[in-house]
Amino acid sequence: MSFAARLALVRTQIAEAALAVGRDPAEIRLVAVSKSFPVEDVRAALEAGCRDLGESRAQELVAKAEALADRDPVPRWVFIGPLQSNKARDVARYAHELQSLDRVELADALQRRLDAVDRTLDVLVQVNTSGEAAKSGVAPGEAVALARAVAAHDRLRVRGLMTIATLGGDEAETRRCFRALAETRERLRDAAIDGVDSAELSMGMSADFPLAIAEGATTVRVGTALFGRR
Ligand SMILES: *Cc1c(COP(=O)(O)O)cnc(C)c1O
Repeated sequence: MSFAARLALVRTQIAEAALAVGRDPAEIRLVAVSKSFPVEDVRAALEAGCRDLGESRAQELVAKAEALADRDPVPRWVFIGPLQSNKARDVARYAHELQSLDRVELADALQRRLDAVDRTLDVLVQVNTSGEAAKSGVAPGEAVALARAVAAHDRLRVRGLMTIATLGGDEAETRRCFRALAETRERLRDAAIDGVDSAELSMGMSADFPLAIAEGATTVRVGTALFGRR
């Protein structure tokens, strides 16, 4: 199957999941997760109409962003992986959005690096809704406090929340994670923090994006179903 054919299939599944719960498919953003796939595959994705591209390693982001810098329109790079503060410079220089903001030290490092290159960055606070020790993200009860601390950084624009459901969880467990993120967003909304936009709920990957849409996802991050197995 061509990339375009796989993309059409994913878009159809997004639309079906949205319509099934009375949502407008147009309000759901697709991030095509190109991590670990070569630049030629990213080019195919861009040609098929993908704009938001997900990467999870700083070095790979730099290489791809530089290789595709002359594209028009330029790709919108979305960083979704755990980020060490000493790699903040790469993300500050090339990414448009970071969905894995999980500590204030990282916000501090990004602020400094963004200042140096005169850029701003959209960020989502990553929430560990599964409770798995190996997952990044703050506990649901800490998300509002982190969003408040991040909002004090004028180069960072908080847009909402991101989560990854329990690895290999059944449908009930997966839904529980997504609901926990939606509930956390309600608390973020109620906090009404100046400069914090709580609209985005980034949740759902190849295996579970229809469930995420049923639970209110505004962004889904799909890799395998578009690019193939890594
Ligand atoms: C790799 C990754 C994805 C995409 O996963 P697939 O199962 O390949 O669709 C989504 N979100 C995050 C945070 C990832 O690291």
